[in-house]
Amino acid sequence: MLRLTFLGTSAAQPTIGRNLSSLAVRRERELFLVDCGEGTQRQMIRYATGFDVAAICFTHLHLDHWLGVVGFLRTLGMQGRPEPLDLYGPRGLRRVVERHVAGGNERLSFEVRVREVEPGERIRRDGCDLVPFATQHGIPSVGWALVEDGRPGRFHVERAAALGVEEGPMFGALQRGKAVTLADGRVVRPEEVVDAPRAGRKLVVTGDTRPCPATVEAARGADLLIHDSTFGDAEGERAIETDHSTAREAARVAREAGAARLILTHLSTRYDREPEPLLAQAREEFGEVAVAHDGMTIELPFRG
Ligand SMILES: [Zn+2]
Ligand SMILES: [Zn+2]
Repeated sequence: MLRLTFLGTSAAQPTIGRNLSSLAVRRERELFLVDCGEGTQRQMIRYATGFDVAAICFTHLHLDHWLGVVGFLRTLGMQGRPEPLDLYGPRGLRRVVERHVAGGNERLSFEVRVREVEPGERIRRDGCDLVPFATQHGIPSVGWALVEDGRPGRFHVERAAALGVEEGPMFGALQRGKAVTLADGRVVRPEEVVDAPRAGRKLVVTGDTRPCPATVEAARGADLLIHDSTFGDAEGERAIETDHSTAREAARVAREAGAARLILTHLSTRYDREPEPLLAQAREEFGEVAVAHDGMTIELPFRG
């Protein structure tokens, strides 16, 4: 399972329909958040993501991307959560956590583990890596790629049977890429019965950023790219001044990276109720594009 739920899709200020930035990503047993704007915990209740968050990945430390973690951790503490919680983010995260999150009077019931990350390191999780990459937002900032491990190739039982391999330990050995020797001395090689390994899925989330080469690199062949799309063509200058992207710029990044799909998020309030212009402008550059809304849920399937 790889399921995304958009918890907040508005830039800078909340509106009736859109909360501040946060994305829930449930992959198998682990739940991750990317950013945690004010009000995120209520959105998690509304959209039933569960509270069993294993890690929160921050893209940068503008208030509208992290303030929600203060209240959320208090709630987890009141619920008596025992498991540690990992907080990952760029330089400065530790200071924010010490001042605002861990510094209260109440002691939390669980350990908060803070890790300040540098672009290019890989954080090992269950069956996948979380990989921060450099973005351009005027302050220390990173985007996040979730890169799943490859999956073993398809095992052809009928081929194995035809070659005289008996079901059991030999099947497992072949699946793990080891040749086996049959009772009559014949050797069966894995490539005779198992297809080549299949790539895992790749999800890339930029957070706030100008379009930049590091995102293109990170999103190379991604199953889904979620990109800052604060503005439309008319606010191109403003996008440059504020270190954000237009929908068209986001779409060009997706095209250059060869991503399969693009979702635009972090909308300026002027597009809050009418995001159609953003969609139309992006579509001129890249076909497989949608605009996020709060509560939007996506199951990311395996390709091929
Ligand atoms: Zn923002
Ligand atoms: Zn920002």
